Amino acid sequence: MPIHEVHLIRPENLKTHEKMVVDGVDVSGHWSTFIEPRVVTDYNENLQDEIAALPGGEHVHRCWQCGSCTNSCTVNAVNPDFNPRYWIYLIRLGMEAELLRDKDIIWQCVSCNKCTYACPRDVVPEGVMKATAHWLELKGHTPKSNSTMFDEEFSEQVFATGKIEEGRVIRGYFRRSGQPLLQDWLVEMAKRLARHLPFKMGAALGFAALVRPRTRGWAKARAAIEEYVDERKAMDRRALGLDEPPAVPPAQRT
Ligand code: SF4
Ligand code: SF4
Repeated sequence: MPIHEVHLIRPENLKTHEKMVVDGVDVSGHWSTFIEPRVVTDYNENLQDEIAALPGGEHVHRCWQCGSCTNSCTVNAVNPDFNPRYWIYLIRLGMEAELLRDKDIIWQCVSCNKCTYACPRDVVPEGVMKATAHWLELKGHTPKSNSTMFDEEFSEQVFATGKIEEGRVIRGYFRRSGQPLLQDWLVEMAKRLARHLPFKMGAALGFAALVRPRTRGWAKARAAIEEYVDERKAMDRRALGLDEPPAVPPAQRT
């Protein structure tokens, strides 16, 4: 399959001769520009299966490279290097090293799902982007992203109590991501909330911040959710050929 996007041609592969005459015709400079062929030797033959094993990546094999996802993509409109069609192409061919060249921008997908609505093959490119970002983290190619840290904090609170308390989520997320709690925007938001929030609601929020709210009789649901999450994590790691993480004893869970 050809790669059409001009910006995907690497500058180091462009060769131009300052002086060149072919059959008496002067083709110096721009007219003698050639693109050196690339030789790819390092494949991961399991790459498509690995992405397909993660949530969201299940239909990656359906792609027929029409490009509708990239054409409709919100992020591609501001950064042409963000190219879901191209990454799906690399995944399907097992070109892991090529994919890793873009590892620092794949996470930028904003989950607008325009690609998913445009896709004629129900690939769910948004899901493939999420699966790919997850794959990069699991394989250790990228550090845990802020969105993963937020997701973990949020989920762990729901698992633990069956409820969330917004202040606790924000505090926990800032702690995980190493951010200071006293940020200007947050202080301003708290001030406005204090000024405008109806008293009853403010009192309920304050109470929830002090006394952790819990859903009554949550223990069985919690055990079932934790069992499912552990199974899911183990399944993902097996699919990627990674060692299973040591199980966290229930007593140590928050
Ligand atoms: S969901 Fe992600 S990949 Fe799809 S169009 Fe939006 S930003 Fe682009
Ligand atoms: S729109 Fe769908 S079929 Fe077309 S390139 Fe994107 S993922 Fe593939």
